Amino acid sequence: MARRRQLYEGKAKILFEGPEPGTLVQYFKDDATAFNAQKKGTITGKGVLNNRISEFLMMKLAEINIPTHFIRRLNMREQLIKEVEIIPVEVVVRNIAAGSISQRLGIPEGTRLPRSIIEFYYKNDALNDPIVAEEHITAFGWATPPDMDDIVHLTLRINDFLSGLFLGVGITLVDFKVEFGRLYENEDMRIVLADEISPDNCRLWDTKTNEKMDKDRFRRDLGKIEEAYQEVARRLGILPEAGARDLKGPDTMQ
Ligand code: UDP
Repeated sequence: MARRRQLYEGKAKILFEGPEPGTLVQYFKDDATAFNAQKKGTITGKGVLNNRISEFLMMKLAEINIPTHFIRRLNMREQLIKEVEIIPVEVVVRNIAAGSISQRLGIPEGTRLPRSIIEFYYKNDALNDPIVAEEHITAFGWATPPDMDDIVHLTLRINDFLSGLFLGVGITLVDFKVEFGRLYENEDMRIVLADEISPDNCRLWDTKTNEKMDKDRFRRDLGKIEEAYQEVARRLGILPEAGARDLKGPDTMQ
């Protein structure tokens, strides 16, 4: 079979042309980066776990009518997705202070915020993904005011739903990042959830011990990174069938 055409390689994923027009294949790598790729490493089995976790969460979100780019998982490291035009804005939701908000505003890590806070960052590696206001996003045309209404509304629903889902398995959803895209179908355009939702872009703390179960273990050299990602999958009830042995599995790229 002919090698599929690679369209884009990011830090943690590769996008290939899909089998039909309007589809793409999203391949999850084990590569990990932090601090705008100044820190690089590999987390063995991460791609397999994030593929599963993101599949699970996107399917659950679809059940409450959140539109997503996800179609189906193809194999251990790949999923079929709808091709969308990515809006160049990272949307961060925070329930508890951690990371950059703690540093920027001097709020001690672990402080519960008075209400969930949404922040926007302009997706631009050369500029280090600067924080921006909705004013910048609409003034520079990265998204329109109606797009932003949809994005904020969807993001708050996603936060409420995922907070409850994780709480049910003993995990506190501290914060997370999502990305949205424009899906063109016939004459219509819809804003849909894109990219991935996984421990790479969420802060997940054990509800009882506050132990970190996410990429902060890599960012802050806390060790037991693979175990933490596996534990998230285990609690969600979606560890690959053969358990940890399955994780290195075949790289089924053609
Ligand atoms: N995040 C992400 N990609 C980024 C920046 C942040 O997925 O490029 C996620 C991060 O994992 C965390 C949330 O967004 O769950 C908030 O991150 P923060 O602004 O605190 O930045 P960080 O501490 O990661 O620099």
